[in-house]
Amino acid sequence: MKKWMLILLAMWLCGVSAVWAQSLECDVVVIGGGGAGLSAAIEAADRGAKVILLEKMAFLGGETGISGGTIQGAETVVQSKAGVADSRRDLFRYWMEAGHYKNDPELVRAVVDMSAANVEWLMKLGVAYEPRNLGLGGWTPVPRAHRTPGGGAELIKALEKAARDRGVTILLGTKATELVSENGRVVGVRAEGKASLVKGKAVIIATGGFAANPEMVKQYAPDYVDSLPITTPGITGDGIRMAQALGAKTRGFGGVIGFRKVKDVPYGSTIDGLGRQVIMYVNKAGKRFVDENAYYALIAEAIHNQGGVVYQIFDEKKREALGSAGQKDFDEALASGLIKQGATIEELATQLGIPPEALASTLAEFNGNAAKGHDPVFWRDAATLVPLTTPPYYGLPVFHANLGTLGGLVINTDAQVIHTSGEAIPGLYAAGSVTGGFFGDVYPAGGSAVAMAVATGRIAGANAASLVK
Ligand SMILES: Cc1cc2nc3c(=O)[nH]c(=O)nc-3n(C[C@H](O)[C@H](O)[C@H](O)COP(=O)(O)OP(=O)(O)OC[C@H]3O[C@@H](n4cnc5c(N)ncnc54)[C@H](O)[C@@H]3O)c2cc1C
Repeated sequence: MKKWMLILLAMWLCGVSAVWAQSLECDVVVIGGGGAGLSAAIEAADRGAKVILLEKMAFLGGETGISGGTIQGAETVVQSKAGVADSRRDLFRYWMEAGHYKNDPELVRAVVDMSAANVEWLMKLGVAYEPRNLGLGGWTPVPRAHRTPGGGAELIKALEKAARDRGVTILLGTKATELVSENGRVVGVRAEGKASLVKGKAVIIATGGFAANPEMVKQYAPDYVDSLPITTPGITGDGIRMAQALGAKTRGFGGVIGFRKVKDVPYGSTIDGLGRQVIMYVNKAGKRFVDENAYYALIAEAIHNQGGVVYQIFDEKKREALGSAGQKDFDEALASGLIKQGATIEELATQLGIPPEALASTLAEFNGNAAKGHDPVFWRDAATLVPLTTPPYYGLPVFHANLGTLGGLVINTDAQVIHTSGEAIPGLYAAGSVTGGFFGDVYPAGGSAVAMAVATGRIAGANAASLVK
């Protein structure tokens, strides 16, 4: 045989084996490597299942990876060490009331009942939730927001290690494209990347929400098409679409995890952070419209009600407080016109297109009240009131933004995906932000999404593994 023929034969054989290698089999297939998917994979592996996890990006994490890593929990070991009295009853009632009872009480109860165990579970995997970092989330006076200095990145690092230690196969750069079903039972997933088909006894969808898919935002959260998404590029609603193709039912659409952001600068940059400082917000009419110290999702709703953009007003002293490190960013924002400047408050108002007398009157009232340490307009915490009396004055537009979408696939308390007929789809589970029903129309408190993602992930993993004999 000629040399070139041998080379061609070798290439053909390699190609065939590559195609074979792309068809994989396991017990449980997990789609999505964020908090919910990794929690599901760990739980299933702990119960003896052989697990393959597909992640379409080149990295794990999803929104969980860029999140604060805060998790809500009641009756936790951390609260007990901090001397915080709390109860599952109170957390349940808080989440239901915040959701205006539009949420699914059974699902909420399931997440509440696991919340303390899940905080401990994450701590055992290496996440540093400590009593001194307990905080408030939402508008409850009970500190149940468990925070970690390492944020969501720390969470993902701990979860990835636990998954790999348990032998979970993680295929990065591998996008699930279609669910495969036989006789009404889901038996696998078609994919692009390191596998073209992955078969299993159960499939868990943990693909997150759809904040990075403008078409889906338009369809399912039309009030928020102009909201600035703070997300990762993989969050395009794939899991919702794949399950809908099999007749899955959805609920809870319409809302987002409301937040606020400065346009055209990176999330978390100096200027973005300046936009979220507790200083003084005014609307286009030059009037204050919210307690600037309120819980972030409520400020977001207030901004939304003002047309989606408001102005952070501050003075020279606040600029100086940015320090030398922030000065360069400030100068750039000023030069580009992002931040407007006025020698007087009236001049600033003109720059911003706000009626000058209105803004001058709002500032005079604010300064008078701040000097007295009492805000009769919104009863803002006196400790946060600082008069703005040193010109020049500055104004920075702040926009409604979101940390993800609400609503998705209906699941029961076993995390099985429900068909529009009302029956569970055999072999199909879902967890995390791809699901709907846990939230009502307002995001209730920082830490709620991670609490839900970890809980539903673990529930899905345990139930999917139970199908493996
Ligand atoms: C900046 C920011 C801060 C936040 N802070 C907090 C906080 O502190 N506490 C809190 O509770 N919530 C917070 N949230 C919200 C919370 O992080 C998310 O709602 C939650 O973590 C979602 O988890 P998940 O596992 O469902 O989805 P994700 O973590 O988003 O993971 C989904 C994964 O699926 C992958 N994927 C998607 N489609 C496919 C496909 N077809 N094939 C394969 N893989 C796919 C994605 O690439 C992604 O990695 C924050 C959100 C943001 C954006």
